[in-house]
Amino acid sequence: MTTRPIEIIGGGLAGLSLGLALRRAGVRVTILEAGVYPRHRVCGEFITGLEAKTVTRLGVAPFLADALHHREVAWFLRDGAKPVRVQRLPSPALGLSRYALDARLAAAFVAAGGDLRTHTRATDLAPNPGRILATGRRRGHSPWLGLKIHARDFALARDLELHLGDHAYVGLARVGDDTVNICGLFRRRELCAKGANLLLGYLQAAALGALATRLTAAELDPASFCAVAAISFDSRVPPADRVLVGDACAMIPPFTGNGMAMAFQSAEVALDPVLAFARGATSWTETCDTIHRALRRRFRVRLASADLLHPFLLQPPRQRWLGALTRARLLPLRPLYAALH
Ligand SMILES: Cc1cc2nc3c(=O)[nH]c(=O)nc-3n(C[C@H](O)[C@H](O)[C@H](O)COP(=O)(O)OP(=O)(O)OC[C@H]3O[C@@H](n4cnc5c(N)ncnc54)[C@H](O)[C@@H]3O)c2cc1C
Repeated sequence: MTTRPIEIIGGGLAGLSLGLALRRAGVRVTILEAGVYPRHRVCGEFITGLEAKTVTRLGVAPFLADALHHREVAWFLRDGAKPVRVQRLPSPALGLSRYALDARLAAAFVAAGGDLRTHTRATDLAPNPGRILATGRRRGHSPWLGLKIHARDFALARDLELHLGDHAYVGLARVGDDTVNICGLFRRRELCAKGANLLLGYLQAAALGALATRLTAAELDPASFCAVAAISFDSRVPPADRVLVGDACAMIPPFTGNGMAMAFQSAEVALDPVLAFARGATSWTETCDTIHRALRRRFRVRLASADLLHPFLLQPPRQRWLGALTRARLLPLRPLYAALH
């Protein structure tokens, strides 16, 4: 059956997983990707709240099969040597490297007959029938910066560590037998350093010196260092004149570990309506409208909850308040987790 062609701009998790599922359903799909595979990405590299039905619907189970299963999170406040709280997750978080995951999805998309054009930055992003934007986070004026690096032979207090610092937080997750990912969100400062030293400088400046000391003693992989600037957290799902998936649709603050799950879930939401369009059963306007409404319904509560909580993780006076509640075991972690996922 001939189908209408689909063009996806952006080959991250959202674009690749949607492209792969469409291609496997016989749709002609082109993905334009500004970068190449494999490559390191600024990401905490643990996924929470990804349901089996999404994985099955998108057919991505084989690419997640070797992910580590993380069950406990140790929360640290500033330079405290001991965690203020150890949280047991209601379901395991998946730990895996984006370097491997994105490359696996890209290879599967090509193997399924998809047209993947790397090193190709699309300049025309205007609404167009069959065009889907999976371009990642929206750029804007923002003081937030993301930094990440891999370390080898690095001991963790629990499966995951989350450290709250001065206008910063940092997540540590094991992503392979001997590899730990360290990724942080920091308020931009004037620091004169590069690579791992920049991360160490940011940790010191954010009152996370104890973590910086641990990292200094570890074997850091300089090739895995990466940074992104101007991270803006816009939780509004934009108007329905186009199809947007993943962070392009809305970005949830990273501490939730839910951004990658949302990338997959938005691809899942878009899949059937885009298939119907490709097969000529619906118009593009209807397709955009259906997907927009479904995405708003699915993500509204978690985006609003994360927006509310985010300042408490970043600002020292609110962190102290949060720390006191946490130590007193008055923070309802389970309901909060449910609201955020
Ligand atoms: C500091 C930080 C830590 C995070 N930690 C976690 C975590 O631990 N767990 C989690 O689940 N999520 C985390 N996230 C969020 C997660 O990384 C994103 O939600 C996820 O990558 C979104 O996938 P995506 O496909 O929408 O976008 P991306 O993965 O960003 O992919 C978008 C792609 O589009 C391409 N592109 C953009 N513009 C164009 C163009 N014009 N033409 C062609 N290509 C283009 C880019 O090159 C990129 O490859 C974190 C984010 C940050 C910033």
